[in-house]
Amino acid sequence: MTLPIISLASGTSVPALGQGTWRMGEDRRRHADEVTALRRGIELGMTLIDTAEMYGDGGAELVVAEAIKGRRSEVQLVSKVLPGNASRNGTIAACQRSLKRLGTDHIDLYLLHWRGRHPLAETVAAFEDLQRAGAIGAWGVSNFDVDDMEELLALPGGEACAANQVLYNLAARGIEYDLLDWSATRQMPIMAYSPLGNDNRMLRHPELQRIARARNATAAQVALAFVLARPGIIAIPKATGLEHVAENRMAADLRLTADEHAALDAAFPPPRRKQQLEMI
Ligand code: NAP
Repeated sequence: MTLPIISLASGTSVPALGQGTWRMGEDRRRHADEVTALRRGIELGMTLIDTAEMYGDGGAELVVAEAIKGRRSEVQLVSKVLPGNASRNGTIAACQRSLKRLGTDHIDLYLLHWRGRHPLAETVAAFEDLQRAGAIGAWGVSNFDVDDMEELLALPGGEACAANQVLYNLAARGIEYDLLDWSATRQMPIMAYSPLGNDNRMLRHPELQRIARARNATAAQVALAFVLARPGIIAIPKATGLEHVAENRMAADLRLTADEHAALDAAFPPPRRKQQLEMI
């Protein structure tokens, strides 16, 4: 089955399942394996690659550059400006550094990594400059809760925000209380980061393991299928292991039953009240 496609506000189509790169580019000895894993993911259709100037202090962008060499037109790149750099001029300079590291002339989606001290209006103005210059296809934000989104959308040009990237997995379901519906109403895609829970703890949960065994799948696949079950969600698991890459791709074809969703709800209860947006 081909991967479901999500449209960004810019009109760019991206697969609902992409690849993360946090922790890549930190150790030269792992460089070749990281490049190979991303390339394998691209071959399997996970052509959306999420990175950031922060990851490996630019090192992850260098890994991505090598992985996409000769196939830039096949992939959609997401990168992020650090809040400390997100002034009007600082955002433009950070983007230019990222473009250089990535070895490309444009980033498809450029995000503010999280809110910082620079006024949002300045960052938005810089994003607009970058978009006019063709350096970015679209811009968005990360780690924004409903109140932040409302403030952003009220700014001149704010409604052009193309996506919001937030923590979302079985063990962190807070956005189901409000942000998910708020975003769906505005056709604002949510990019779910750490969909596997970032480390292995969540995947060891006995109920997740039980459902996985019953479906002849892995706990990671069930966790990803849960996130991808909602329309308008893009999941960006990070995987360096080639078997992990293949497993993650196959997870997009796994449809959980209503009973399985109910069992997951019992093991990982959805929020019953507003929770502050979690971030890692
Ligand atoms: P994650 O994708 O939930 O988990 C990554 C971990 O899961 C790695 O240790 C990986 O191991 C392992 N893994 C991958 N596939 C697996 C499988 N099929 N079975 C078992 N284990 C598997 O965590 P994440 O890296 O925190 O989140 C994903 C991406 O979201 C990041 O890489 C980054 O691009 C983005 N992110 C954004 C923010 C933000 O503030 N905007 C914050 C966090 C993350 P191997 O690598 O050894 O395969």
